[in-house]
Amino acid sequence: MDAREAALRRAHDHAVRWLASLADRRVPARASVDEIVRALGAELPDDPSTPADVVDLLATACEPGLTAFPSGRFYGFVVGGTEPAALAADWLVSAWDQNCVMRAVSPAYSAAEDVAGAWLLDLLGLPSTGSVGFTTGATMANFTCLAAGRDTVLRRAGWNVDRDGLTGGPAVHVIAGESRHMAIGMALRYLGLGKPDLVKADDQGRIEPDALRHALTAGGQSPTIVILQAGDVHSGAFDPFVESIRAAREADAWVHVDGAFGMWAAASPRYARLTAGCADADSWATDAHKTLNVPYDCGLAIVRDPSAVRAAMGERGDYLIQHEHGDPIDKVPELSRRGRAFTAWAALRSLGRSGVADLVERLCAHARAFATGIAEIDGATVLNDVVFTQVCAEFGSDERTDRVLARLLEDGTAWISGSTWHGRRVMRISVSNWSTTDDDVRRTLDAIRRAAVNV
Ligand SMILES: *Cc1c(COP(=O)(O)O)cnc(C)c1O
Repeated sequence: MDAREAALRRAHDHAVRWLASLADRRVPARASVDEIVRALGAELPDDPSTPADVVDLLATACEPGLTAFPSGRFYGFVVGGTEPAALAADWLVSAWDQNCVMRAVSPAYSAAEDVAGAWLLDLLGLPSTGSVGFTTGATMANFTCLAAGRDTVLRRAGWNVDRDGLTGGPAVHVIAGESRHMAIGMALRYLGLGKPDLVKADDQGRIEPDALRHALTAGGQSPTIVILQAGDVHSGAFDPFVESIRAAREADAWVHVDGAFGMWAAASPRYARLTAGCADADSWATDAHKTLNVPYDCGLAIVRDPSAVRAAMGERGDYLIQHEHGDPIDKVPELSRRGRAFTAWAALRSLGRSGVADLVERLCAHARAFATGIAEIDGATVLNDVVFTQVCAEFGSDERTDRVLARLLEDGTAWISGSTWHGRRVMRISVSNWSTTDDDVRRTLDAIRRAAVNV
Protein backbone atom coordinates (compact mmCIF):
# COMPACT_ATOMS: atom_id res chain seq x y z
CA MET A 1 0.00 0.00 0.00
CA ASP A 2 1.47 3.38 -0.86
CA ALA A 3 1.43 6.28 1.57
CA ARG A 4 -1.55 7.94 -0.13
CA GLU A 5 -3.71 4.85 -0.01
CA ALA A 6 -2.76 4.23 3.62
CA ALA A 7 -3.78 7.78 4.54
CA LEU A 8 -7.10 7.45 2.70
CA ARG A 9 -7.88 4.16 4.44
CA ARG A 10 -7.10 5.74 7.79
CA ALA A 11 -9.36 8.72 6.96
CA HIS A 12 -12.12 6.32 5.96
CA ASP A 13 -11.85 4.47 9.28
CA HIS A 14 -11.98 7.68 11.29
CA ALA A 15 -14.92 8.99 9.23
CA VAL A 16 -16.93 5.81 9.70
CA ARG A 17 -16.23 5.84 13.44
CA TRP A 18 -17.33 9.48 13.67
CA LEU A 19 -20.54 8.85 11.76
CA ALA A 20 -21.34 5.78 13.89
CA SER A 21 -20.85 7.85 17.05
CA LEU A 22 -23.56 10.34 16.02
CA ALA A 23 -26.47 8.18 17.20
CA ASP A 24 -25.47 8.49 20.85
CA ARG A 25 -22.67 10.97 21.29
CA ARG A 26 -23.12 14.24 23.16
CA VAL A 27 -24.01 16.82 20.55
CA PRO A 28 -21.97 19.74 21.96
CA ALA A 29 -18.17 19.57 21.85
CA ARG A 30 -16.39 18.39 25.02
CA ALA A 31 -13.08 20.23 24.63
CA SER A 32 -12.12 23.90 24.29
CA VAL A 33 -10.16 25.57 21.50
CA ASP A 34 -7.05 25.78 23.73
CA GLU A 35 -7.19 22.07 24.50
CA ILE A 36 -7.42 21.20 20.80
CA VAL A 37 -4.56 23.59 19.96
CA ARG A 38 -2.38 21.71 22.45
CA ALA A 39 -3.48 18.34 21.05
CA LEU A 40 -2.79 19.42 17.45
CA GLY A 41 0.62 20.77 18.44
CA ALA A 42 1.11 24.52 18.26
CA GLU A 43 4.69 24.28 16.94
CA LEU A 44 5.26 23.71 13.21
CA PRO A 45 7.48 20.60 13.10
CA ASP A 46 10.84 20.86 11.37
CA ASP A 47 10.50 17.51 9.63
CA PRO A 48 7.85 15.79 7.49
CA SER A 49 5.43 13.18 8.89
CA THR A 50 3.85 10.15 7.23
CA PRO A 51 0.41 11.03 5.74
CA ALA A 52 -1.39 8.23 7.67
CA ASP A 53 0.13 9.44 10.95
CA VAL A 54 -0.99 12.97 10.18
CA VAL A 55 -4.54 11.77 9.57
CA ASP A 56 -4.48 9.81 12.86
CA LEU A 57 -3.23 12.79 14.79
CA LEU A 58 -5.78 15.13 13.21
CA ALA A 59 -8.67 12.77 13.94
CA THR A 60 -7.73 11.94 17.51
CA ALA A 61 -6.72 15.49 18.43
CA CYS A 62 -9.91 17.02 17.04
CA GLU A 63 -12.47 14.41 18.11
CA PRO A 64 -13.26 15.92 21.56
CA GLY A 65 -13.61 19.40 20.03
CA LEU A 66 -16.05 18.42 17.31
CA THR A 67 -19.67 19.52 17.57
CA ALA A 68 -22.03 16.89 16.18
CA PHE A 69 -23.46 19.14 13.46
CA PRO A 70 -24.51 16.13 11.35
CA SER A 71 -26.37 14.58 14.31
CA GLY A 72 -30.14 14.18 14.05
CA ARG A 73 -30.32 16.13 17.33
CA PHE A 74 -28.55 19.31 16.17
CA TYR A 75 -31.18 22.04 15.81
CA GLY A 76 -29.11 25.23 16.01
CA PHE A 77 -28.98 27.99 13.34
CA VAL A 78 -30.09 26.34 10.06
CA VAL A 79 -27.72 23.43 9.53
CA GLY A 80 -28.19 20.40 7.33
CA GLY A 81 -26.48 17.06 7.78
CA THR A 82 -24.76 14.95 5.17
CA GLU A 83 -26.78 12.63 2.94
CA PRO A 84 -24.72 9.44 2.48
CA ALA A 85 -24.45 9.66 -1.33
CA ALA A 86 -23.52 13.33 -1.15
CA LEU A 87 -20.86 12.76 1.48
CA ALA A 88 -19.27 9.93 -0.48
CA ALA A 89 -19.44 11.97 -3.69
CA ASP A 90 -17.71 14.83 -1.90
CA TRP A 91 -14.75 12.55 -1.15
CA LEU A 92 -14.51 11.84 -4.87
CA VAL A 93 -14.61 15.58 -5.56
CA SER A 94 -11.42 15.95 -3.50
CA ALA A 95 -9.77 12.91 -5.08
CA TRP A 96 -10.67 14.02 -8.62
CA ASP A 97 -9.51 17.57 -7.86
CA GLN A 98 -11.11 19.08 -10.94
CA ASN A 99 -10.70 22.76 -11.64
CA CYS A 100 -14.26 23.73 -12.53
CA VAL A 101 -13.77 27.00 -14.38
CA MET A 102 -14.08 25.85 -17.99
CA ARG A 103 -16.45 23.61 -19.90
CA ALA A 104 -13.72 22.41 -22.26
CA VAL A 105 -11.32 21.28 -19.53
CA SER A 106 -13.62 19.30 -17.24
CA PRO A 107 -16.46 17.96 -19.37
CA ALA A 108 -17.47 15.76 -16.42
CA TYR A 109 -17.89 18.74 -14.11
CA SER A 110 -19.82 20.79 -16.65
CA ALA A 111 -22.09 17.84 -17.34
CA ALA A 112 -22.81 17.42 -13.61
CA GLU A 113 -23.48 21.17 -13.33
CA ASP A 114 -25.84 21.09 -16.32
CA VAL A 115 -27.75 18.04 -15.07
CA ALA A 116 -27.94 19.05 -11.39
CA GLY A 117 -28.83 22.63 -12.39
CA ALA A 118 -31.73 21.45 -14.58
CA TRP A 119 -33.00 19.14 -11.85
CA LEU A 120 -32.84 21.94 -9.28
CA LEU A 121 -34.81 24.35 -11.47
CA ASP A 122 -37.41 21.66 -12.00
CA LEU A 123 -37.69 20.76 -8.29
CA LEU A 124 -37.82 24.37 -7.15
CA GLY A 125 -40.39 25.31 -9.81
CA LEU A 126 -38.11 27.94 -11.38
CA PRO A 127 -37.74 28.89 -15.08
CA SER A 128 -35.98 26.06 -16.92
CA THR A 129 -33.74 28.47 -18.84
CA GLY A 130 -32.33 30.09 -15.69
CA SER A 131 -28.66 30.08 -14.76
CA VAL A 132 -27.65 27.94 -11.74
CA GLY A 133 -24.28 28.84 -10.20
CA PHE A 134 -22.73 26.78 -7.39
CA THR A 135 -21.33 29.05 -4.66
CA THR A 136 -19.94 28.52 -1.15
CA GLY A 137 -23.31 29.25 0.44
CA ALA A 138 -26.38 31.45 0.38
CA THR A 139 -24.40 34.54 1.37
CA MET A 140 -22.38 34.36 -1.84
CA ALA A 141 -25.46 33.24 -3.77
CA ASN A 142 -27.27 36.38 -2.58
CA PHE A 143 -24.19 38.40 -3.54
CA THR A 144 -24.10 36.88 -7.03
CA CYS A 145 -27.81 37.40 -7.70
CA LEU A 146 -27.78 40.95 -6.34
CA ALA A 147 -24.73 41.80 -8.46
CA ALA A 148 -26.71 40.73 -11.53
CA GLY A 149 -29.65 42.82 -10.28
CA ARG A 150 -27.53 45.88 -9.49
CA ASP A 151 -25.86 45.91 -12.90
CA THR A 152 -29.15 45.30 -14.71
CA VAL A 153 -31.15 48.09 -13.05
CA LEU A 154 -28.25 50.51 -13.55
CA ARG A 155 -27.87 49.48 -17.18
CA ARG A 156 -31.59 50.19 -17.69
CA ALA A 157 -30.94 53.64 -16.19
CA GLY A 158 -28.17 54.21 -18.74
CA TRP A 159 -25.24 53.50 -16.40
CA ASN A 160 -22.54 50.89 -17.12
CA VAL A 161 -21.13 49.54 -13.82
CA ASP A 162 -18.71 47.24 -15.60
CA ARG A 163 -16.94 50.17 -17.23
CA ASP A 164 -17.59 53.07 -14.85
CA GLY A 165 -18.02 51.50 -11.43
CA LEU A 166 -20.55 52.97 -9.03
CA THR A 167 -19.05 56.40 -8.37
CA GLY A 168 -21.06 59.15 -10.01
CA GLY A 169 -23.83 56.79 -11.09
CA PRO A 170 -27.49 56.89 -10.06
CA ALA A 171 -28.19 55.67 -6.50
CA VAL A 172 -29.76 52.23 -6.41
CA HIS A 173 -32.81 52.06 -4.16
CA VAL A 174 -32.61 48.68 -2.40
CA ILE A 175 -35.71 47.63 -0.49
CA ALA A 176 -35.85 44.67 1.92
CA GLY A 177 -38.19 43.45 4.64
CA GLU A 178 -37.14 44.35 8.18
CA SER A 179 -36.88 40.64 8.95
CA ARG A 180 -34.31 39.96 6.19
CA HIS A 181 -31.34 37.71 7.04
CA MET A 182 -28.01 39.29 8.01
CA ALA A 183 -26.48 37.78 4.86
CA ILE A 184 -28.44 40.33 2.81
CA GLY A 185 -26.66 43.19 4.61
CA MET A 186 -23.31 41.48 3.97
CA ALA A 187 -23.99 41.01 0.26
CA LEU A 188 -25.16 44.62 -0.15
CA ARG A 189 -22.06 45.87 1.65
CA TYR A 190 -19.75 43.86 -0.65
CA LEU A 191 -21.66 45.31 -3.63
CA GLY A 192 -21.21 48.93 -2.52
CA LEU A 193 -24.96 49.37 -2.14
CA GLY A 194 -25.02 50.36 1.54
CA LYS A 195 -27.93 49.74 3.87
CA PRO A 196 -31.29 48.76 2.40
CA ASP A 197 -34.49 50.70 2.87
CA LEU A 198 -36.30 48.50 5.40
CA VAL A 199 -39.99 47.83 5.04
CA LYS A 200 -42.29 46.81 7.88
CA ALA A 201 -42.91 43.12 8.38
CA ASP A 202 -45.73 41.47 10.34
CA ASP A 203 -45.27 39.52 13.59
CA GLN A 204 -44.09 36.44 11.66
CA GLY A 205 -41.53 38.44 9.67
CA ARG A 206 -43.50 38.65 6.39
CA ILE A 207 -43.03 41.85 4.44
CA GLU A 208 -46.20 43.97 4.34
CA PRO A 209 -47.18 44.58 0.69
CA ASP A 210 -48.77 47.99 1.45
CA ALA A 211 -45.59 49.15 3.16
CA LEU A 212 -43.59 47.80 0.20
CA ARG A 213 -45.80 49.70 -2.24
CA HIS A 214 -45.26 52.86 -0.21
CA ALA A 215 -41.45 52.39 -0.21
CA LEU A 216 -41.49 51.79 -3.99
CA THR A 217 -43.40 55.05 -4.54
CA ALA A 218 -41.06 56.97 -2.21
CA GLY A 219 -38.09 55.89 -4.35
CA GLY A 220 -39.43 57.78 -7.38
CA GLN A 221 -37.74 56.76 -10.64
CA SER A 222 -34.52 55.39 -9.09
CA PRO A 223 -33.21 52.04 -10.28
CA THR A 224 -34.69 49.66 -7.71
CA ILE A 225 -34.05 46.20 -6.24
CA VAL A 226 -36.62 44.48 -4.02
CA ILE A 227 -35.39 41.67 -1.78
CA LEU A 228 -37.96 39.14 -0.55
CA GLN A 229 -37.54 36.14 1.70
CA ALA A 230 -38.64 32.50 1.55
CA GLY A 231 -38.17 31.21 5.10
CA ASP A 232 -37.63 33.50 8.08
CA VAL A 233 -34.94 32.09 10.40
CA HIS A 234 -37.15 32.56 13.48
CA SER A 235 -40.64 31.73 12.26
CA GLY A 236 -40.00 29.94 8.95
CA ALA A 237 -42.51 32.39 7.39
CA PHE A 238 -42.63 33.22 3.68
CA ASP A 239 -43.20 36.67 2.20
CA PRO A 240 -46.44 37.14 0.23
CA PHE A 241 -44.79 36.76 -3.18
CA VAL A 242 -47.76 37.30 -5.50
CA GLU A 243 -48.67 40.75 -4.17
CA SER A 244 -45.09 41.84 -3.46
CA ILE A 245 -43.78 40.88 -6.89
CA ARG A 246 -46.74 42.52 -8.63
CA ALA A 247 -45.96 45.79 -6.80
CA ALA A 248 -42.24 45.51 -7.59
CA ARG A 249 -42.94 44.85 -11.28
CA GLU A 250 -45.08 47.96 -11.55
CA ALA A 251 -42.03 49.92 -10.38
CA ASP A 252 -39.76 48.08 -12.85
CA ALA A 253 -37.66 46.74 -9.96
CA TRP A 254 -35.38 43.71 -9.98
CA VAL A 255 -36.88 41.17 -7.58
CA HIS A 256 -34.59 38.86 -5.65
CA VAL A 257 -35.63 36.10 -3.22
CA ASP A 258 -33.43 34.89 -0.37
CA GLY A 259 -34.67 31.33 0.07
CA ALA A 260 -31.63 29.79 1.76
CA PHE A 261 -33.71 26.99 3.28
CA GLY A 262 -37.30 27.98 2.44
CA MET A 263 -37.01 27.61 -1.35
CA TRP A 264 -37.12 23.84 -0.76
CA ALA A 265 -40.80 24.07 0.19
CA ALA A 266 -41.38 24.25 -3.56
CA ALA A 267 -40.11 20.67 -3.90
CA SER A 268 -42.96 19.27 -1.80
CA PRO A 269 -46.51 19.13 -3.18
CA ARG A 270 -47.73 19.69 0.41
CA TYR A 271 -45.68 22.82 1.06
CA ALA A 272 -45.25 24.32 -2.42
CA ARG A 273 -48.12 26.74 -1.71
CA LEU A 274 -45.74 28.60 0.66
CA THR A 275 -43.65 29.65 -2.34
CA ALA A 276 -46.62 30.50 -4.60
CA GLY A 277 -45.68 33.34 -6.95
CA CYS A 278 -42.00 33.15 -6.00
CA ALA A 279 -41.02 31.89 -9.47
CA ASP A 280 -41.95 35.29 -10.94
CA ALA A 281 -38.87 36.92 -9.37
CA ASP A 282 -35.65 37.65 -11.29
CA SER A 283 -33.23 35.77 -9.02
CA TRP A 284 -33.18 33.33 -6.13
CA ALA A 285 -30.50 32.33 -3.63
CA THR A 286 -30.65 29.04 -1.82
CA ASP A 287 -28.41 26.53 -0.08
CA ALA A 288 -27.81 22.88 -0.85
CA HIS A 289 -25.91 22.48 2.43
CA LYS A 290 -29.04 23.23 4.46
CA THR A 291 -32.26 21.46 3.44
CA LEU A 292 -30.75 19.26 0.71
CA ASN A 293 -28.19 18.00 3.25
CA VAL A 294 -25.03 18.01 1.15
CA PRO A 295 -21.81 18.52 3.15
CA TYR A 296 -20.39 22.05 3.38
CA ASP A 297 -20.18 23.99 1.28
CA CYS A 298 -22.77 24.51 -1.42
CA GLY A 299 -25.03 27.45 -2.20
CA LEU A 300 -27.03 28.07 -5.38
CA ALA A 301 -27.27 31.38 -7.23
CA ILE A 302 -30.16 31.18 -9.66
CA VAL A 303 -30.82 33.97 -12.15
CA ARG A 304 -33.71 34.06 -14.64
CA ASP A 305 -31.69 35.79 -17.37
CA PRO A 306 -28.32 34.01 -17.77
CA SER A 307 -26.93 36.99 -19.69
CA ALA A 308 -27.50 39.23 -16.64
CA VAL A 309 -25.36 37.11 -14.34
CA ARG A 310 -22.80 36.54 -17.08
CA ALA A 311 -22.43 40.29 -17.54
CA ALA A 312 -21.89 40.72 -13.78
CA MET A 313 -19.69 37.68 -13.08
CA GLY A 314 -18.24 36.30 -16.30
CA GLU A 315 -14.82 37.13 -17.66
CA ARG A 316 -12.73 36.37 -20.72
CA GLY A 317 -9.10 35.42 -20.25
CA ASP A 318 -6.50 35.03 -23.00
CA TYR A 319 -5.11 31.86 -21.50
CA LEU A 320 -8.51 30.25 -20.78
CA ILE A 321 -10.31 27.95 -23.20
CA GLN A 322 -13.83 29.29 -23.27
CA HIS A 323 -17.01 27.95 -24.70
CA GLU A 324 -19.33 29.95 -26.92
CA HIS A 325 -22.35 28.87 -24.83
CA GLY A 326 -20.79 29.97 -21.55
CA ASP A 327 -18.80 28.30 -18.83
CA PRO A 328 -19.19 27.62 -15.10
CA ILE A 329 -17.09 30.77 -14.53
CA ASP A 330 -19.95 32.87 -15.97
CA LYS A 331 -22.31 32.11 -13.09
CA VAL A 332 -20.33 32.72 -9.88
CA PRO A 333 -17.72 35.10 -8.45
CA GLU A 334 -14.89 32.57 -8.08
CA LEU A 335 -12.40 31.42 -10.67
CA SER A 336 -10.85 28.22 -9.24
CA ARG A 337 -13.24 26.29 -7.03
CA ARG A 338 -14.22 22.76 -6.05
CA GLY A 339 -16.71 20.61 -7.95
CA ARG A 340 -19.78 21.26 -5.85
CA ALA A 341 -22.22 20.18 -8.54
CA PHE A 342 -20.99 16.58 -8.32
CA THR A 343 -22.09 16.49 -4.69
CA ALA A 344 -25.46 18.14 -5.33
CA TRP A 345 -26.06 15.76 -8.23
CA ALA A 346 -25.40 12.77 -5.95
CA ALA A 347 -27.85 13.99 -3.30
CA LEU A 348 -30.56 14.59 -5.92
CA ARG A 349 -29.93 11.31 -7.72
CA SER A 350 -30.00 9.43 -4.42
CA LEU A 351 -33.24 11.01 -3.18
CA GLY A 352 -35.14 11.35 -6.42
CA ARG A 353 -38.11 13.68 -6.71
CA SER A 354 -40.16 11.83 -4.10
CA GLY A 355 -37.21 11.61 -1.73
CA VAL A 356 -36.68 15.38 -1.75
CA ALA A 357 -40.41 15.97 -1.12
CA ASP A 358 -40.39 13.37 1.63
CA LEU A 359 -37.30 14.97 3.22
CA VAL A 360 -38.98 18.40 3.34
CA GLU A 361 -42.20 16.94 4.72
CA ARG A 362 -40.36 14.98 7.43
CA LEU A 363 -38.49 18.09 8.60
CA CYS A 364 -41.80 19.99 8.82
CA ALA A 365 -43.52 17.15 10.68
CA HIS A 366 -40.69 17.04 13.25
CA ALA A 367 -40.97 20.82 13.71
CA ARG A 368 -44.71 20.43 14.43
CA ALA A 369 -43.96 17.63 16.91
CA PHE A 370 -41.52 19.95 18.71
CA ALA A 371 -44.14 22.69 18.86
CA THR A 372 -46.76 20.31 20.27
CA GLY A 373 -44.34 18.84 22.82
CA ILE A 374 -43.00 22.20 24.01
CA ALA A 375 -46.48 23.72 24.34
CA GLU A 376 -47.27 21.00 26.91
CA ILE A 377 -44.36 22.04 29.15
CA ASP A 378 -45.35 24.10 32.16
CA GLY A 379 -44.82 27.81 31.47
CA ALA A 380 -43.61 27.27 27.89
CA THR A 381 -45.17 29.03 24.91
CA VAL A 382 -44.54 28.51 21.20
CA LEU A 383 -44.34 32.00 19.70
CA ASN A 384 -44.48 31.40 15.95
CA ASP A 385 -46.97 29.88 13.55
CA VAL A 386 -45.12 26.67 12.73
CA VAL A 387 -45.56 26.67 8.96
CA PHE A 388 -42.25 25.09 7.99
CA THR A 389 -39.10 23.85 9.79
CA GLN A 390 -38.59 26.55 12.45
CA VAL A 391 -39.92 26.76 16.00
CA CYS A 392 -39.45 29.61 18.50
CA ALA A 393 -40.51 29.15 22.12
CA GLU A 394 -40.10 30.93 25.43
CA PHE A 395 -40.32 29.66 29.00
CA GLY A 396 -42.11 32.42 30.91
CA SER A 397 -39.31 35.00 31.19
CA ASP A 398 -36.05 35.84 29.41
CA GLU A 399 -34.10 34.58 32.42
CA ARG A 400 -35.87 31.24 32.58
CA THR A 401 -35.55 30.75 28.81
CA ASP A 402 -31.78 31.33 29.05
CA ARG A 403 -31.50 28.97 32.04
CA VAL A 404 -33.38 26.24 30.17
CA LEU A 405 -31.07 26.70 27.17
CA ALA A 406 -27.95 26.54 29.35
CA ARG A 407 -29.11 23.37 31.11
CA LEU A 408 -30.02 21.79 27.82
CA LEU A 409 -26.48 22.34 26.47
CA GLU A 410 -24.98 20.93 29.68
CA ASP A 411 -27.19 17.86 29.29
CA GLY A 412 -25.75 17.35 25.81
CA THR A 413 -28.59 15.29 24.31
CA ALA A 414 -29.23 17.98 21.72
CA TRP A 415 -27.91 21.32 20.50
CA ILE A 416 -30.42 24.16 20.33
CA SER A 417 -29.55 27.83 20.16
CA GLY A 418 -31.10 30.84 21.80
CA SER A 419 -32.00 34.05 20.03
CA THR A 420 -33.77 37.32 20.62
CA TRP A 421 -37.03 37.67 18.72
CA HIS A 422 -39.40 40.65 19.06
CA GLY A 423 -37.34 41.75 22.07
CA ARG A 424 -37.67 38.44 23.94
CA ARG A 425 -35.19 35.64 24.56
CA VAL A 426 -36.32 32.52 22.72
CA MET A 427 -35.33 28.92 22.21
CA ARG A 428 -34.92 28.60 18.46
CA ILE A 429 -35.25 25.18 16.84
CA SER A 430 -34.43 24.51 13.21
CA VAL A 431 -35.14 21.00 11.94
CA SER A 432 -32.90 20.66 8.91
CA ASN A 433 -31.22 17.27 9.16
CA TRP A 434 -32.31 14.37 6.94
CA SER A 435 -31.37 11.83 9.64
CA THR A 436 -33.57 13.23 12.43
CA THR A 437 -35.99 10.50 13.55
CA ASP A 438 -39.14 10.51 15.69
CA ASP A 439 -36.95 9.03 18.41
CA ASP A 440 -34.48 11.95 18.17
CA VAL A 441 -37.40 14.34 18.62
CA ARG A 442 -38.69 12.33 21.60
CA ARG A 443 -35.25 12.23 23.24
CA THR A 444 -34.81 15.96 22.67
CA LEU A 445 -38.24 16.81 24.10
CA ASP A 446 -37.37 14.70 27.16
CA ALA A 447 -34.16 16.69 27.52
CA ILE A 448 -36.04 20.01 27.19
CA ARG A 449 -38.52 18.85 29.84
CA ARG A 450 -35.64 17.90 32.16
CA ALA A 451 -34.00 21.28 31.56
CA ALA A 452 -37.23 23.12 32.36
CA VAL A 453 -37.84 21.40 35.72
CA ASN A 454 -37.23 23.68 38.73
CA VAL A 455 -35.46 26.48 36.90
C1 LIG B 1 -28.35 30.52 6.27
C2 LIG B 1 -29.00 31.68 5.61
C3 LIG B 1 -28.27 32.57 4.82
C4 LIG B 1 -26.77 32.48 4.68
O1 LIG B 1 -26.39 31.27 4.13
P1 LIG B 1 -24.89 30.70 4.21
O2 LIG B 1 -25.00 29.42 3.49
O3 LIG B 1 -24.57 30.56 5.66
O4 LIG B 1 -23.99 31.68 3.54
C5 LIG B 1 -28.97 33.57 4.16
N1 LIG B 1 -30.29 33.69 4.29
C6 LIG B 1 -31.04 32.87 5.07
C7 LIG B 1 -32.52 33.07 5.15
C8 LIG B 1 -30.42 31.83 5.76
O5 LIG B 1 -31.14 30.99 6.51
